[in-house]
Amino acid sequence: MLPSGNRVIWLNTGAPGTVTVTGLFAVTAGADIVGTNCGTALSLDDYVELAGQLVAAAGKRPVIVQPNAGSPHTENGKTIYKATPEEMAATATRLLATGVRIIGGCCGTTPALLAAMSRAVRAVKA
Ligand SMILES: [Zn+2]
Repeated sequence: MLPSGNRVIWLNTGAPGTVTVTGLFAVTAGADIVGTNCGTALSLDDYVELAGQLVAAAGKRPVIVQPNAGSPHTENGKTIYKATPEEMAATATRLLATGVRIIGGCCGTTPALLAAMSRAVRAVKA
């Protein structure tokens, strides 16, 4: 839980290239933490690119990134996310390397995917 008085300004960035602008907006607006989650059609590589842009825009503020479990696909009228635990774990490691300090998951993320991401991040820090 954040201490009283901290400000989290949550921005859906949409696509690489726009995140620096939104990240800078968040910083200017007084955010203590800068982050992003869902982006329709963003690949896991896109989230890593976004992360680097956010870290650069955030200065010393912590950055949180919560990627979808890959780009969504529609099958039989259902939205499906196909990222594997291995892919999400590799993405979490790459996010950490960009300077992201809080990593989660958004649409399509399952407990199994989050567990794989957690193991990967803990292995880097060990
Ligand atoms: Zn989402």
